[in-house]
Amino acid sequence: MKKQISIKTLYLVIPCYNEEDTIDVSAQVFKEKMHTLILDKKISKDSKVLFVDDGSKDKTWNLIEKLHDDDKMFIGLKLAHNAGQQNALLAGLHFAKEHSDIAITMDVDLQDDISVIDDMLKQNMDGSDIVYGVRSSRKKDSFFKKFPALSFYKLMHLMGIDIVYNHAECRLMSRRTIEALEEYTEVNLFLRGIVPQLGFKTSIAYYERQKRVAGKTKYSLKKMIKLAIECITSFSIKPLTMITFVGLMMFLVSLGMLAYCLFVKVTGNTIDGWTFIVSSIWLVGGIQLLSLGVIGEYIGKIYTETKRRPRYIIEKELN
Ligand code: UDP
Ligand code: MG
Repeated sequence: MKKQISIKTLYLVIPCYNEEDTIDVSAQVFKEKMHTLILDKKISKDSKVLFVDDGSKDKTWNLIEKLHDDDKMFIGLKLAHNAGQQNALLAGLHFAKEHSDIAITMDVDLQDDISVIDDMLKQNMDGSDIVYGVRSSRKKDSFFKKFPALSFYKLMHLMGIDIVYNHAECRLMSRRTIEALEEYTEVNLFLRGIVPQLGFKTSIAYYERQKRVAGKTKYSLKKMIKLAIECITSFSIKPLTMITFVGLMMFLVSLGMLAYCLFVKVTGNTIDGWTFIVSSIWLVGGIQLLSLGVIGEYIGKIYTETKRRPRYIIEKELN
């Protein structure tokens, strides 16, 4: 059977928060890239650059409107308030799904080298539904960016959360994977954690992380820590399980302490009441922590149930 190759429509989804210094420079780079891809027949001429203004307080939206007036390749979505990069991306993806075959998400600051798009499109042609953009090096990141970022991946791994190492929000998704993503109706959605759970055929495209073209990072250390906590608490009930484990250990140690206290009492090396107080502290502490852990396990169940995540996603159907 002859394989039919049709040209796909690509939407570049770009979240922007207070990016007035960056957006004009980046828009020209995106535009050039899109034109080249269209000329090379790698994407259809209906492809667009979709800027999602995440409730910026500066002139970002005015600039997006101006870009759209000058060239209809640029389109925009304006969120009513600063919903955060994750939600901005989600809004963009949901919109893109209605009009395109594939969407690629990237930062507006060109830190994700746009030449990665070629590689992503190629891998998509080769059958990958999801292509993760992965930073091959972080030479251009400062220590204060690199250290928390790498600790983040290590911590996630420790918590049993399946995320792709050194991959941020630069990724290609086919329409059906965005449709699958829509099945996840939870409010705190962390894309880097959910997307690997979708399944489908995935692959990796490597690129060098660049410096910001202009403006400053919109992620302070505080925002990064918030994101990490958000991620752990939306993906893992391991912290709760850990309480059970520590409680169990405490309880076992308390039994040892009980034996020790009795031994000290029998050998007569103790003042009155010591045995009782010390063994009670250990025993009660152990029992309390263990009980908390048990309660935590049930709360963990309630928590996972309330997410109402889809239990399966169908990739193919023969009918
Ligand atoms: N961003 C957003 N909402 C926010 C914070 C950031 O849409 O609340 C956008 C931002 O405009 C940029 C991308 O998310 O396009 C990544 O942010 P940034 O470059 O500041 O993060 P960094 O690359 O320093 O981690
Ligand atoms: Mg950036």
